[in-house]
Amino acid sequence: MNNISRSIEAFSKAKELIPGGVNSPVRAFKSVGGNPLFISEAKGSKVWDIDGNCYIDFVASWGPMILGHAREEIVEAVRKAAEKGTSYGAPTLYENEMAELIISMVPSVEKVRMVNSGTEATMSALRLARAYTGRSKVIKFTGCFHGHADSFLIKAGSGVLTLGIPGSPGVTESVAKDTLTAEYNDLESVSKLFDAYGKDIAAVIVEPIPGNMGVILPKQGFLQGLRELTSKYGALLIFDEVISGFRVAPGGAQELYGIMPDLTTMGKITGGGLPVGAYGGRKDIMDMLAPEGPVYQAGTLSGNPLAMSAGIAALKILKNEPGIYKELDRKAARMEAGLREKLAETGTKGVINRVGSMLTLFFTSASEVCSFADAMTSDTDRYARHFNKALQAGVYFAPSQFEATFISTAHTDEDIDKAVECFKN
Ligand code: PMP
Repeated sequence: MNNISRSIEAFSKAKELIPGGVNSPVRAFKSVGGNPLFISEAKGSKVWDIDGNCYIDFVASWGPMILGHAREEIVEAVRKAAEKGTSYGAPTLYENEMAELIISMVPSVEKVRMVNSGTEATMSALRLARAYTGRSKVIKFTGCFHGHADSFLIKAGSGVLTLGIPGSPGVTESVAKDTLTAEYNDLESVSKLFDAYGKDIAAVIVEPIPGNMGVILPKQGFLQGLRELTSKYGALLIFDEVISGFRVAPGGAQELYGIMPDLTTMGKITGGGLPVGAYGGRKDIMDMLAPEGPVYQAGTLSGNPLAMSAGIAALKILKNEPGIYKELDRKAARMEAGLREKLAETGTKGVINRVGSMLTLFFTSASEVCSFADAMTSDTDRYARHFNKALQAGVYFAPSQFEATFISTAHTDEDIDKAVECFKN
């Protein structure tokens, strides 16, 4: 067993100071048991805990670190920006550069507004969709997670799912009644809602590639079907690309699958590891935002120079380095193939879902995992054993069955092979 006595002591102290000892619930290792590791340092594909143990990291800060940790171009950009002051509350050239980059990369985005988190992005996109359509209801999918704004904390994924909370106390009935839930990959469930509430539905919000109930792939025609239904009923289609944005292709899932949403929400990779969110889309919709239009949304630190510098450095590499997504895919395919061999060798039942550099191994005897219900057939105790064995072997996977494994450009083939090797019966 690794000595993690300092992490244990720190967590015990943290619990006295911070609710549950963490600033975001998924960090608490609740569903895998054990004590969360306090991290002191990270570089490339590795993180170190405060006891000095080193781990190959596949959590990647829950997605942002597609270029690995402490990538030199990003560190240098942040350092340079910090020397010139950390925030002004006035426009900067960084913001123009960031907007130009996002617009050039993400096919459906004509104008974009920067915010500080994915939650802010989805929350604001929904307000905008409601204002644009003059309607109040939104359709989301069971198991998809769109951050912690009230409207989305209904049958949500990620930590809500990991902790088995159906919704959240504190979300009022009057808010909850405007959120309708459909089943991912089931167009019929969406049609039914449109049949019943068509004129009241402002938007459908979807993770085009869900990552918050584990990775799930859209079935052929599903996203296209959402596009057609929303257009038919005059509702907006919002792609929540907080995870898939810049991850599965330079232009995210909308580029990969060739579907144009009306609005797109982004976060994670967009900030190169600093707190950033963004939402963008059609000009006529985005121009409804204040001060151009009447829809209010603001932020003291939005477009922060440090965050913009980090994000710009990251997006430039992703946009300009040839072959970067191919290489990410090759490495992730290597992990997938290795894990498939392990499943066969050990006679373990499992399903692996992968899109580019994001994947999930579901411990289930189901033949496929295409929906929330399928994901729920997973043996979470079996996942916990897998997680803990890997951790002891120096490999840090997400502390929950219902999350993604993220491969970065910094992972070597040796890292991947080690992650596969630590799979035990
Ligand atoms: N949308 C999706 C798809 C997410 O995965 C997340 C966070 N995991 C969010 C929104 C919320 O982003 P943040 O944690 O930055 O508020």
